[in-house]
Amino acid sequence: MIIISEFMDDAAVKRLQRHHAVIYEPDLFDRPDDLRAGLGGARALIVRNRTQVTRALLDHAPMLECIGRLGVGLDNIDVARCGERDISVFIASGANDQCVAEYVIGTSLALLRGAYAVNAQMIRGDWPRNTCAGREAQGKTLGLIGFGAIGQRTARIAAAVGMVPIASDPYLPPDSEGWQFARQAGLPEILETSDVVTLHVPLLPETRHLLDANAFNSMKPGALVINTSRGDVIDEEALVDCLQRGHLAGCALDVYADEPLSVDSGRKFAGLDNIILTPHIAGVTRESIPRVSTMIVEKVLEHLQSRN
Ligand code: NAD
Repeated sequence: MIIISEFMDDAAVKRLQRHHAVIYEPDLFDRPDDLRAGLGGARALIVRNRTQVTRALLDHAPMLECIGRLGVGLDNIDVARCGERDISVFIASGANDQCVAEYVIGTSLALLRGAYAVNAQMIRGDWPRNTCAGREAQGKTLGLIGFGAIGQRTARIAAAVGMVPIASDPYLPPDSEGWQFARQAGLPEILETSDVVTLHVPLLPETRHLLDANAFNSMKPGALVINTSRGDVIDEEALVDCLQRGHLAGCALDVYADEPLSVDSGRKFAGLDNIILTPHIAGVTRESIPRVSTMIVEKVLEHLQSRN
């Protein structure tokens, strides 16, 4: 039995069904009792980022052999416990790098230019030409925090539009080929000199609130922040404070400390100019959905077959 607890590409589900019994319920992550019950006989579990695969949930899955993660972040999975239980965890490495990188560059260009949110004024006949003269990307410094697969892909596209990428990643070896796409810099330099700062680290105890009030205050006045990593990597309240004071000029947030963003949590963003808020979709496009699903299906099928 294979349990799929979040949405997945239909063709990929059918491929699994040709070989195994499958329970595919895209809202199962939201029904913990049913999820626990289904896991009793499951050999594989396939999730996105909403299913919280905790030690307690794993205790209800005595036969579990592998977990497929339709994406790359592993902060919703107790990987240490999986290791102890010999449960393999597969991620869709590389399958959504391009769309996240395009999101970062697309939102950077839109926020720098600052001219694309005037439809209402145009329709009223305001012709707001004086407030629409924004900035070019050419020559602007893009500071990347975390320089793995997505960071490197983003740097390559940034260079193509004339931006100057610099990156901080203490764990990327100095001789990594990745450094051909950005100059290596320390976190303080990234914060102090970048026109756009973009986050590409996993959520770990050491990266929680990596950008806090001190970090945001040390950023170049008028800089932008793009966060597609995980909400808790930044202190949202501190970011909002810098935006309200006009120290920072805008942000694009795809991820939040509280997901889905509740009315209460979202209220702090109301009234801010030059911000883009999206519902954790940087890695989700019509192209990436089948790419991610197919990659995970192949890994899960291969693993289960090798154990038969
Ligand atoms: P990756 O593992 O290839 O790269 C992460 C990099 O972060 C690594 O090179 C690592 O050395 C570095 N790192 C770790 N701790 C650091 C620190 N303290 N300072 C600086 N660098 C540090 O992962 P990736 O594929 O590039 O993805 C990055 C993150 O993006 C994922 O963990 C996930 O949370 C997020 N993501 C979000 C979406 C979305 O839809 N919004 C989609 C895909 C990935």
